[in-house]
Amino acid sequence: MNIGLVGHVDHGKTTLVQALSGEWTDQHSEEMKRGISIRLGYADATFRECPDLEEPERYTVEEECADGSPSEPLRTVSFVDAPGHETLMATMLSGAAIMDGAVLVISASEPVPQAQTEEHLMALDIIGIDNIVVVQNKVDLVDADRARESYEEIQEFVEGTVAEDAPIVPISAQQEVNMDVLIQAIEEEIPTPDRDPDADARMHVARSFDINRPGTTWEDLTGGVLGGSLAQGELNDGEEIEVRPGREVEEGGQSEYRPITTEIRSLQAGGENVETVTPGGLLGVGTGLDPSLTKGDALAGQLAGPPGTLPPTWNSFEMEVDLLDRIVGQDSGEVDEISTGEPLMLTIGTATTVGSVTSARDDECEVALKRPVCAAEGAKIAINRRVGARWRLIGIGTLQG
Ligand code: GDP
Ligand code: MG
Repeated sequence: MNIGLVGHVDHGKTTLVQALSGEWTDQHSEEMKRGISIRLGYADATFRECPDLEEPERYTVEEECADGSPSEPLRTVSFVDAPGHETLMATMLSGAAIMDGAVLVISASEPVPQAQTEEHLMALDIIGIDNIVVVQNKVDLVDADRARESYEEIQEFVEGTVAEDAPIVPISAQQEVNMDVLIQAIEEEIPTPDRDPDADARMHVARSFDINRPGTTWEDLTGGVLGGSLAQGELNDGEEIEVRPGREVEEGGQSEYRPITTEIRSLQAGGENVETVTPGGLLGVGTGLDPSLTKGDALAGQLAGPPGTLPPTWNSFEMEVDLLDRIVGQDSGEVDEISTGEPLMLTIGTATTVGSVTSARDDECEVALKRPVCAAEGAKIAINRRVGARWRLIGIGTLQG
């Protein structure tokens, strides 16, 4: 299963993932250089139990318990480390499509809430992620009075939100303090969801790559690779899959997207080659596609599954609109009605696309998309509007057709 790490930049998400998994998620490819997780980073962690110890000490990620006895594995979870940088809300929202639960990281050393703390909690609410654990991080940096004050600020902040009943766990990710209490809270609050084993496979493509080195000759080329998560069903090595909306084709001055069909040539999950993958965790799918089609995340945001089973591709659609009362993360700023002609940034599943409003009524509007999306009717849409220099979340849409 996938657990998202969300919260304001520098509050300690990546440090916490490292403490739980031993991996530094910012390291994935070129992200490191920029110092922020510009794409979703992933890391697997195995939670373990020490049968002879009491709670919370019985929970650990270490193979050896505090009393020297060996620990036993409980389950492996994949952390999706969302970026906290303020311009990257779209990446967080598209990551939310593949999260089964979330850990909201809030620093005790700053007033609560910071802008993205509020925005990310709102996004969880919109996407419908209600299995949440709140982490009060960096308690090592504050005195006991500030720690209590910050705890009360957090309690007040989550009141009336989807995280209202979530436990709040004080920790120091850097000093690895209270990790056992946090693991216990995650075990109790974020269960592995039930999945229908007979459903058609449905993969959310979050990234796509060309893994060939420059100068590789044609005999040695490896096909394009898709990275993402399976929402339902299973995929097997050797199977055919369809990817939608697919590739852009220019014909007679017109451009349109056509679905792509290809064969699965390899499957990777948890860093190992496997024959079959099931939902939860992050996977890599080696395909027979021309790597130029998958290069540089070209297929990110698309859906993959057995041919003929995917939902429709939309170039334009009508959506029901539910606007927020005010723009999140800003003190002032009511949300004005959506008007005809205005550009909106829409996140649907792992896809982000810009749409132009072609007609707007009170609680409905029609948008023409710059890039089409593959999505089922009833899909939830995060609606962002340009305010000043950045896109701000202004509401939630439901795809009507
Ligand atoms: P992210 O932007 O939320 O992923 O934050 P990072 O994990 O990159 O952490 C930002 C900074 O805070 C880094 O310098 C960390 O070393 C530091 N940091 C993270 N957790 C703690 C903590 O519990 N205590 C202290 N003192 N520093 C922390
Ligand atoms: Mg980070």
